[in-house]
Amino acid sequence: MAADRKQSTPRITHADRLVDAKSGITKGELAAYYARVAPLMLPHLRGRPVALVRAPDGIAGELFFQKHAQHGEMAGVGLLDPALDPGHEPLLQIDTAEGLLGAAQFNVVEFHTWNALSRAFAQPDRMTFDLDPGEGVEWPRMQEAALLVRTLLDELGLPSFLKTSGGKGLHVVVPIRRAHGWDEVKGFSQAIVQQLARSVPERIVAKSGPRNRVGKIFADYLRNGFGATTISAWSARARPGLGVSVPLDWDELFEVDGADHWTVATIAERLDIGNAPWAAMERSRKGLGDAMRRLGYLVN
Ligand code: ATP
Ligand code: MN
Repeated sequence: MAADRKQSTPRITHADRLVDAKSGITKGELAAYYARVAPLMLPHLRGRPVALVRAPDGIAGELFFQKHAQHGEMAGVGLLDPALDPGHEPLLQIDTAEGLLGAAQFNVVEFHTWNALSRAFAQPDRMTFDLDPGEGVEWPRMQEAALLVRTLLDELGLPSFLKTSGGKGLHVVVPIRRAHGWDEVKGFSQAIVQQLARSVPERIVAKSGPRNRVGKIFADYLRNGFGATTISAWSARARPGLGVSVPLDWDELFEVDGADHWTVATIAERLDIGNAPWAAMERSRKGLGDAMRRLGYLVN
């Protein structure tokens, strides 16, 4: 009898190959991690274009950022209509545990998603603010910066949700109604960040480039452009120790001790809480019109 493709689990070959020397985690253990977090992670991946970071020689080797693939390359990984990204191989989408493990078999460590659904990709359904520490910035400054972002978003009437990046920073996500184009959302996210940089210039910068942010935090709005991606909640990071991006309740902001507070090795303690901190995300989606007026942001 033919196996049900949806149920089949791709075989993990070279399972004892080392992925990360710091934690000692192997390819088989990373695949087991993804099998375990699949129920928590798939809601964040499902229906969105996904980009992958592959580490065929472990994370100390060369890393490959992959947005496209050819037919049948990775078991269970879906291919999107080439019209989404003309002139390339199809973009990818992962909706099932089979796809997650198919990617793991191909040495994928990181999963990054678009701010839009594949079936409605002309209009983003969230805004993402990526807080990046400049040289010399200590973690407590990052926590304060995230709170500043939240405070401004609150004043604008926008709900916001927090996660660790698993690397060095924090990500603040604002779920929005699909009612605005990419340029509008990106332009508005830039205006929000510029407003923050004006109010606390000693803390936050809105301009990219390492020289602009020595001792400061870059509030990156560029994740809001068409085709830009951000690490998915529950993805591991291809960095020493294999940090994991984890949804946080705002009340927990000052309890975590770094962006890599949880790693593949320590995540078990967090699985019960899972996505609970983001439970209200779907029902809190909003259009941006009111927030734009409050900020004095004029479209066109
Ligand atoms: P940190 O908290 O350490 O800043 P992060 O997830 O915010 O972690 P990066 O790991 O620096 O930031 O990733 C930046 C973004 O750039 C990723 O989400 C991804 O969309 C994109 N990216 C990463 N590598 C590449 C690449 N090789 N080519 C194109 N885009 C990339
Ligand atoms: Mn970042």
